Amino acid sequence: MPYYQPVVDIQTGKMVSAEVLVRWRKPNGTILEPAAFVELVETSGLAVDLTRSLMRRVREEIGSAIGKRPHVTIAFNVAPEHFDDALILNDVATIFDSSPVKLTQMVLELTERSRIENLSGMRDTVAALQGKGCKVAIDDMGNDHCGLTYVLKLGVDMIKIDKSIVQSIDTQGDSKTTIETLIDLARNMGMDLVAEGVETFEQVTYLRDRGIKAAQGYVFAPPLPSSSFLQLLDAMDPVVEAAAADAAQPAAAPPTAEPAQTAPARAAPAKLAPTRATPAQAAKPMPANLAAKIAAISAKAPPARPARAVAAG
Ligand code: C2E
Ligand code: CA
Ligand code: CA
Repeated sequence: MPYYQPVVDIQTGKMVSAEVLVRWRKPNGTILEPAAFVELVETSGLAVDLTRSLMRRVREEIGSAIGKRPHVTIAFNVAPEHFDDALILNDVATIFDSSPVKLTQMVLELTERSRIENLSGMRDTVAALQGKGCKVAIDDMGNDHCGLTYVLKLGVDMIKIDKSIVQSIDTQGDSKTTIETLIDLARNMGMDLVAEGVETFEQVTYLRDRGIKAAQGYVFAPPLPSSSFLQLLDAMDPVVEAAAADAAQPAAAPPTAEPAQTAPARAAPAKLAPTRATPAQAAKPMPANLAAKIAAISAKAPPARPARAVAAG
């Protein structure tokens, strides 16, 4: 089943994307995280089927909400073999064809977990996806495996900076050098950057000061089940339905100076939760509070309480 983690524009506080992260609910109700099964799924050739079934589920669960917000994208983790013979393009086109979600809202994230055999075939698939408006991202950039070759040879749209780099910003000087280098690379090649695994307000500030726009991590929200994610999306990015808006507004009324509903984009930082979430907190998200917390972090003010290091999973 899909869980959804928001990607936030740290310059504006708006949600710009949601990454789909698979979870496995066992018959006894226990939720298993990908570390327990994704490698097995990938090595036994089931990754393509897994992504297809996740895509269908995502379409059912959040397709309508995402379709109403064309500025929000959905990111899927896609195994390299799914790029063979443009399989992935056929799948996104077929699965989302009659849904409200546009192909321009698709991001396909690629991780170099195994050696790529057919780089030129993959490049053709990337170009074909881009031709339909989809974006392709290189995931986990900067960790041991991934992936300057990919970035230079595939012509991708986006780099996701690995969480190991982001999390050692405060402790390891070479992480800052890596980030500066990736910023230069992205700028020179016209690619977007997303920082992942952002856990502290200080990391948000550092990334924002360097001009990075998009970030994802426990400091904002953990991966959420669809119901919580949809509540968060509504709180951060409310959509005024045309019929409801007509009913609420007298026909002859002049337009109001204030938008009817806006996300609390500049809420008081005093409401800021501790800047690191423990796995236990991550398991019990509270969407109403999350929206205020994300707004507070985006208000560019220091947190109300000093950051305390709490071990995060
Ligand atoms: P990923 O694509 O790099 O996803 C980000 C991972 O970092 C997720 O772990 C997410 O829960 C975790 N994360 C997010 N924010 C933070 C943070 O602030 N701190 C820390 N420490 N971690 C954070 P998750 O959900 O356990 O997924 C692990 C990996 O499994 C993913 O890494 C991805 O490579 C793989 N995976 C997940 N879903 C799929 C899928 O549908 N298909 C395939 N092929 N792989 C998947
Ligand atoms: Ca990913
Ligand atoms: Ca990643």
